[in-house]
Amino acid sequence: MSEVAQGGATPVREGLFREDPPALLGARCENCGALRFPALAVCARCQHEGASEVALPDQGRVFTYTIVHAPPPGYAGEVPYALGVVELGDGLRVAATLLAEDLAAVRISAPCRLELFDLAGEDGAALRTYGFRIGEE
Ligand SMILES: [Zn+2]
Repeated sequence: MSEVAQGGATPVREGLFREDPPALLGARCENCGALRFPALAVCARCQHEGASEVALPDQGRVFTYTIVHAPPPGYAGEVPYALGVVELGDGLRVAATLLAEDLAAVRISAPCRLELFDLAGEDGAALRTYGFRIGEE
């Protein structure tokens, strides 16, 4: 049985993040220490099987981004939106939606903070997912 997220929205995928306090859940290899998100059962660097779950930092900086103007198939959200890669430190980069009232605020090296938000799924039910909200310098 899957847990229901706060607010009744279902996580877009189990095990990607926790709700309170919000954090992405990565994995640190017990052999070589490589940090990975999303978590994998086998380390991509050393092939070791065995990793500890790690709550990732909730703040980072935009490493790169693009503005999406044409919605991908099945996407019910608003366009345009920003899709980026956020540098969380420790060599870890995470692909995520970038959230900003004004997309002009999205730029490389902008500070940003993890935020959970809901998307409408194909059947209309809310799906909880994660993004990074662009903040002030
Ligand atoms: Zn490893």
